[in-house]
Amino acid sequence: MKRQVSLEEISDGKLYELNDMVKADCNGCKGCFSCCKGMGQSIVLDPFDMFQITSNLNLKFEQLIGDKIELNVVDGIILPNLKMTGVQEQCGFLNAQHRCSIHSFRPGICRLFPLGRYYENHSFRYFLQVKECKKENRSKVKVKKWIDIPNIKENELFIINWHYFLNDIQQKIQENSNTLDIRSINLFLLNHFYVTPYNAEEEFYKQFNNRLEQAKMALM
Ligand code: SF4
Ligand code: SF4
Repeated sequence: MKRQVSLEEISDGKLYELNDMVKADCNGCKGCFSCCKGMGQSIVLDPFDMFQITSNLNLKFEQLIGDKIELNVVDGIILPNLKMTGVQEQCGFLNAQHRCSIHSFRPGICRLFPLGRYYENHSFRYFLQVKECKKENRSKVKVKKWIDIPNIKENELFIINWHYFLNDIQQKIQENSNTLDIRSINLFLLNHFYVTPYNAEEEFYKQFNNRLEQAKMALM
């Protein structure tokens, strides 16, 4: 989701790379679950998140929608996000002990928090959101250790490709809103990247790259 705020307002003004140390480590959160509730529609899921959740829980997209995830329009495109429910508006994956029940395969945005991504020049770096995490006195940690995701360089490449692909589609929709069938484009994207199951036994990135090429041929 694009945010129209200056980095100076929300961060410590620095941009970080994978091997940099950043003051993000909240030491296991210890009793806090603030960023797992009241997050509105902001925890948007990408195709890798969907692959991880569906293959680890052995569930289909259709079994998650309504209860754990919902659909919303993000900059003109329909995308799934984690659904906040109940009086406390908390994530459906939070367990009775207020811990994440899908911690080892939680979505990318949850892994990053309180870091964010700053995109430029067909790439991105990380920034520290200084007002978001409720824990004071966080420790320094290496960015890649904090994110803690296997094949992180390949994951970064996927994130870049997905982000700029969505950017191109958003721009195309904006520029041709009178002539394009926007509903059909959105249905295609949703089915192609989220609803159609990925093969849990095969590497995700190869499957995604194939789907991306197909989508570019169909839409661009
Ligand atoms: S998936 Fe886990 S870490 Fe992310 S908001 Fe839900 S409970 Fe919190
Ligand atoms: S707000 Fe900070 S300390 Fe609290 S759960 Fe989120 S990351 Fe952990």
